Amino acid sequence: MPVTAPPHDALDVLRRQDPEVADVLLGEERRQADSLQLIAAENFTSPAVLAALGSPLANKYAEGYPGARHHGGCEYADAVERIAVRRATALFGADHANVQAHSGSSAVLAAYAALLRPGDTVLAMGLEHGGHLTHGSPASFSGRWFDFVPYGVDAETGLVDHEQVAALARHHRPKAIVCGSISYPRHLDYAVFREIADETGAYLIADAAHTIGLVAGGAAPSPVPYADVVCATTHKVLRGPRGGMILCGEELAGRIDRAVFPFSQGGAQMHTIAAKAVAFGEAEAPAFTAYAHRVVEHARFLAAALAAEGFAPITGGTDTHLVTADPAPLGVDGRTARTRLAAAGIVLDTCALPYGEARGIRLGTAAVTTQGMGAPEMARIAGLFTAALRDDPGETARVRAEVRALTGRFPPYAR
Ligand SMILES: *Cc1c(COP(=O)(O)O)cnc(C)c1O
Repeated sequence: MPVTAPPHDALDVLRRQDPEVADVLLGEERRQADSLQLIAAENFTSPAVLAALGSPLANKYAEGYPGARHHGGCEYADAVERIAVRRATALFGADHANVQAHSGSSAVLAAYAALLRPGDTVLAMGLEHGGHLTHGSPASFSGRWFDFVPYGVDAETGLVDHEQVAALARHHRPKAIVCGSISYPRHLDYAVFREIADETGAYLIADAAHTIGLVAGGAAPSPVPYADVVCATTHKVLRGPRGGMILCGEELAGRIDRAVFPFSQGGAQMHTIAAKAVAFGEAEAPAFTAYAHRVVEHARFLAAALAAEGFAPITGGTDTHLVTADPAPLGVDGRTARTRLAAAGIVLDTCALPYGEARGIRLGTAAVTTQGMGAPEMARIAGLFTAALRDDPGETARVRAEVRALTGRFPPYAR
């Protein structure tokens, strides 16, 4: 558990120079500490990760890759990127890792750039079933530049319909199949996706942005042995800095690297790469394995506790860190639920509900588990949900106070 303070010396310097910005940062620190962070994509990085992010490597230009840069003075930039790549390949058993992608979306853009031409057909989970914006949204480069065919989940079970994926692949002959989601709470069967890709001559791209941290901790199956390219973020369950990463085999390494730089990005953010190296180092430790398993245990517990309170968890539960649920049985939709919960200090997202008109709620246990909360706290949180949804100012105030008391016992960063 991280129990030391983030670099407050640096914040003190900022407070003296620019109190306007410093006040906002301290306000955000307080907000994170005294409300419940249940956004499935968020976590609390360690003070060591924050220290790397705030280091003078932020000043360094380092276009290119270690040993082949477009700038002088890159000896330390090279060293830290080599450490990050070595740790990432070891952690995930991959031949090659690109740690320069600025974000999960940049990683996906680079994967498409490496494997596809504009106009190519791509099969991916439909957005209303849990696909990411980069999986074919008309608002993103993906939907603009490629011809996306969506697959979905079964209306009854909420599980990926492999028969449908295979049928669509045989019919449309996509150049690539994307598997990965922002809200699917179950493990994906990468072997089945691989079979379908092989049968239809498609590349398999796994977008493991959410689950890669569970993979690192051995709490979810790895896409690395199956996918041609694995895209990921480093800031979700993996608990590193905000950023992206791409894993692939040796034969695609050059294409992936060129698709990141110079095709779609400029100079790498070396301070972030240093922070990624630190996070990979933390994820190699046995404590992270225990953490990843606890995250899943807590999500299962919370899904069951919410079901007992009347929520309808999609797929009936979860295999991962995230829970999606329909709050309709409690008389509200996802948007109303998010607003009422936020008023009580419980922060989460809404999500599309497959085949639903209204939205549901999506939450995750990565952050609260980092704080050291356990099963008793999950049970308490589920009870607070129902109380907060009653739209009774007295109840909202009572829940807000309970949230303060609960989070006060589990500070993300001890001062
Ligand atoms: C989070 C996520 C992304 C995007 O990551 P950003 O860092 O926000 O760009 C892409 N794909 C999936 C499946 C995600 O969950």
